[in-house]
Amino acid sequence: GIRSWVGWAGANIAEANKQRVREAMDDQGLSPVFLTQEEERHYYAGMCNSVLWPLLHYFPSKVDLGEQSWAHYVKVNHKFADAIAEVAEHNDQVWIHDFHLMLLPAMLRSRRPDLHIGFFLHVPFPSSELWRLLPQREALLRGLLGADHIGFHTADYLRHFRSSCLRVLGIEPEADHITQGARRIGLGAHPIGTDVERFQKALNSPAAFGKSAEFIERWKERKIVLGVERLDYTKGIPAKLKAFERFLERDPKRASEVAMLQLLVPSREEHEGYRALLREIEKEISRINGRFGKPGLTPLEYMHTNLEDPELVALYRHANVMMVAPVRDGMNLVAQEFVLCQGHAPHTPDHARGMLILSEFAGAAMVLPHAMLVNPWDIDALSDAIEGALRMPQTERQLRIADMTERVIELDSRAWARGFLEKLDRAAQHNSRTQPAPIDAQAMANLRTRFRSAKHRRLFLDYDGTLCEIAARPELASPTAEILDLLKQLTDLPNTEVHLVSGRHQTTMANWFGELPVLIGAEHGYYRRDKSGKWTSQSNVDLSWMPRVRELLTETVEEVPGSFLETKSCAMAWHYRLADPAYGKWRARELVPMLQESLNSENAEPLLGHAVVEVRAKGADKGCYVAEHIEDLDADDFVLCAGDDRTDLDMYRRLPPGALVCHVGSLIPTAQFVVDTPAALRDLLTNLLSDNSLDLPADETMQHL
Ligand code: UDP
Repeated sequence: GIRSWVGWAGANIAEANKQRVREAMDDQGLSPVFLTQEEERHYYAGMCNSVLWPLLHYFPSKVDLGEQSWAHYVKVNHKFADAIAEVAEHNDQVWIHDFHLMLLPAMLRSRRPDLHIGFFLHVPFPSSELWRLLPQREALLRGLLGADHIGFHTADYLRHFRSSCLRVLGIEPEADHITQGARRIGLGAHPIGTDVERFQKALNSPAAFGKSAEFIERWKERKIVLGVERLDYTKGIPAKLKAFERFLERDPKRASEVAMLQLLVPSREEHEGYRALLREIEKEISRINGRFGKPGLTPLEYMHTNLEDPELVALYRHANVMMVAPVRDGMNLVAQEFVLCQGHAPHTPDHARGMLILSEFAGAAMVLPHAMLVNPWDIDALSDAIEGALRMPQTERQLRIADMTERVIELDSRAWARGFLEKLDRAAQHNSRTQPAPIDAQAMANLRTRFRSAKHRRLFLDYDGTLCEIAARPELASPTAEILDLLKQLTDLPNTEVHLVSGRHQTTMANWFGELPVLIGAEHGYYRRDKSGKWTSQSNVDLSWMPRVRELLTETVEEVPGSFLETKSCAMAWHYRLADPAYGKWRARELVPMLQESLNSENAEPLLGHAVVEVRAKGADKGCYVAEHIEDLDADDFVLCAGDDRTDLDMYRRLPPGALVCHVGSLIPTAQFVVDTPAALRDLLTNLLSDNSLDLPADETMQHL
């Protein structure tokens, strides 16, 4: 069941009355969030309705970013986080709705990591080209990524969201999820449906039948082209009027055969832009009526009001053509409602006589392909569609409506909610399983005991992403004083070898760590520096494939602007991190099989990494390095290996029995310890050092490891 609905109280409530309102709402399972008048203005009318709404609907020219909008948006999202944190019990599911609360998922996660958090966007997610216009593009995306599962109406919106993550945050999403450390954020297309039960009930009500009879009588001379929308600039109402005008222009006799009936549902009337739109529409309607009307004959009728269900369904049932032509619409429920009412019309000879004209730019077009799909910018096509719909043979209309009705019933809003919540549950379960549990005090004490009591200690540490955070550019990830000091302290211990095993160049490793008494495996262990500081390279590696691979990669560099080639002693890498990320990835995917084919059974293998395709000589991997540096160890010596990516798994595989793995990132089965960041690994290593007396006796608890 639902514990609570948390939402804006919807009105400005005086301080003195808040407690009473809260209590009254509590009885209905509602937890009100109160907004001040300032917040209503800057958050709701400002950031939500004058920035996000137009941007998400491809109207950048209507974006009006007030000075205080963003600060209030942040503040109100915090208010919601407070309210939810108060009512949500341990492990509760929280479902956050729409663009008003995009920061909330991350805010809530940082306060209540136990919660299962879902987010659904009820509007379009625009192309990254639009999204990146927004000054707060990054903060909003990071806010969303606090969720366990994020839902959109269509695969298009999902695609735009994924490319915005790539282009704005540099995060490369998978088809249906995004990985963030140990967490996986599910992504899905969940088209919302109508409340089928509510409409069926209204359709069967005596009031609706009464209205239907009234309409049949009143419109018996003329066919009806119906429009129903909230008065909003996204709905394309002026274009529909123009299309109807053109339809009459082509044959003015039509004015006495067909009427257009437009319902405008009042919306955002505090906004001058919306009031101006109403004036514009009213002017257009009078102009067209002036042009084609006669005494007693009004070709275009409109109402600016909110209708009750029985009257609305009777209109839907009666209409011959429903024209839904938004320039952008997340879903558009009106289209679905019309279909439902037509599909359930009483069985008269006129049954299912209507047809739906639907904009390609409404999410509904993705679920109702049997409608007459049109480009709402093309006025001629729109008026052709009116003609076509009126002329369509009855059998075809019936078939199309029947197909669409079936689909609308499937999409029912209850089924939609169930589907989303199931996906959320699955994503959240996955995340609670893979979230590395903090290493508890007992386990840490055992590890330290084992470390101290061992005769020999050997550490194999990867550098980038393991000891040190990944930087925007590799050359910026040089070791900090903290890292150098930590390594120094480790190497100061008796009988302790510290091996840095990295994919980096020998020269970089020598520059950065040359002063320390560490052992080094550079270029995945191809170059080694031993205890005495002497460098050698592996002698048994075949490099005859290199010229051919260089040729292929050089060609690719020429074809992908911004990409570059890196040559190492026994490897070659094509990097595309500074190129267009999508084009780079596409070429990378093509490159790998091409290289595989050209290297067929030779001593090299291509690997797809993060924004890089690397070709490496076989036998020069970190695992070989480890294998050659453990031969002298005894069974009770202490071996710890730490890494974060695929090349480090090679090390883990070659470790001696009893060795410990500490992995940075997500849970993996081969690791005894998992930490979520390089900082946490450094803490762990520091912790091993925290008592310098290394002569403590081993206690029994160490067996638990
Ligand atoms: N609607 C309404 N009052 C009316 C006529 C229609 O509230 O007088 C409803 C309509 O039934 C539909 C909703 O308004 O459920 C509009 O939803 P839609 O997805 O079409 O567009 P939105 O307004 O959400 O942009």
